[in-house]
Amino acid sequence: MRPIHSLRGFRDILPPESGLFSKIETTAREMFASYGYREIRIPTLELKELFVKSTGDTTDIVEKEMYAFEDQGKRMIAARPEGTPGVVRAYIENNLSQSGKNSKFYYIGSMFRAERPQAGRYREFTQIGVENLGNPSPFADAETITVLVRFLEKTGISGCSGSSHSSLHLGPQCGCSVEINSMGCAKCRSIYRENLLSYLKANSGDLCDSCKSRIDRNPLRALDCKTDGPVFAEKAPGISMCAECEEHFKKTGELLKISGIFFKLNPHLVRGIDYYTRTVFEVKSSALGSQDAIAGGGRYDDLVKSMGGPATPAVGWAMGLDRLVLAIKEVNPAADSPEVFVAAADKNSRIEAFRILTELRDYDIKADSSDFDASLKSQMRSADKSDARLAIIIGEEEVRSSTCIIKFLKEKLSQKTVVRNNLLSELKLILKPAVTDP
Ligand code: AMP
Repeated sequence: MRPIHSLRGFRDILPPESGLFSKIETTAREMFASYGYREIRIPTLELKELFVKSTGDTTDIVEKEMYAFEDQGKRMIAARPEGTPGVVRAYIENNLSQSGKNSKFYYIGSMFRAERPQAGRYREFTQIGVENLGNPSPFADAETITVLVRFLEKTGISGCSGSSHSSLHLGPQCGCSVEINSMGCAKCRSIYRENLLSYLKANSGDLCDSCKSRIDRNPLRALDCKTDGPVFAEKAPGISMCAECEEHFKKTGELLKISGIFFKLNPHLVRGIDYYTRTVFEVKSSALGSQDAIAGGGRYDDLVKSMGGPATPAVGWAMGLDRLVLAIKEVNPAADSPEVFVAAADKNSRIEAFRILTELRDYDIKADSSDFDASLKSQMRSADKSDARLAIIIGEEEVRSSTCIIKFLKEKLSQKTVVRNNLLSELKLILKPAVTDP
């Protein structure tokens, strides 16, 4: 039979890259918990209507890129293209505004967009996102941007702030920049919409067909259109804010400075989604090519109400894990390797080798083996390939004398025989991290 291939734009994430994904996810969970965010798990499939009404029917995401289909019950379903609409639906449906607890959530999961695949752009990709619902203050804007930057720094991304919080050292440091803008409130935006529309109409000859057909319905989309955005970004008018929005934006900037975050004001940053109000932001990495946005987000003060919930100001962001991993670039293969590789030298030592392997794992030592029935030479080849530090070799002679051999794989020709009962304590001594004198 002809082998079956994966779908275009859908990919397998294999070790050691998959190990890096997990490590970043663990870092995210730990860091978000320390900022008071709790995990929310939302469905992959929702009614299509949810995204049409929240993300917006004139956005590229909804208009062109959504995986939507009719199910057996004749309902129009969509695979989520982003996380915020599902979180907002869950917030309303589960009456979370009444829970008495902070509505600060994070999520980690696959998103789906039928975009043209290229490096850093996939049709299924993982987003890590946070949403802070119920807090109108610029402190919330500053907190969400700070947690994003601190999180990126922890994974080895630098350049976003004056602090040095990188502790994972997952890869070489690579520069990032934070851009922010304000979309103002509904009042500011309606004036901006008119100004932008007259500007775009005056220059409509340069617009792509898609923008030409939607400028009347949503002129802002021309600024984040993949074709027109770069052409118009520099020349189009920027927003002029009302006094309250101006104050909110100013305060957010001041607080970001207190967090030590470097940011650039980008008056044309509008983001490709309809629901944003006031602060919008994006983090870009110089280590990526044309798909250089690692994360983006903003405030969406009107969305919960417009979706049928109580008036609830909110702010959040989503980060593309696949792009973060690309930006970090170098995957440390040792992170996935066993510490110890167990090999059986002959037929009569296989059971004892299996017992040792099980025992090591019970004591949380990362241990592995290949096929005990294979020749010792072949098992030792696998041991070398596994990148383990040590091999435990057990043969007929060792079984008889209740001993085993510890071989130091990184130091050629070095090995020692230890009493079987002392194996665990010997290994702990060898494997324990080196303690340096203060
Ligand atoms: P957005 O929801 O469009 O604001 O995207 C937030 C982040 O998700 C972006 O900054 C990217 O890092 C990531 N992202 C968006 N679309 C894709 C895609 N097709 N493939 C990979 N990552 C993506």
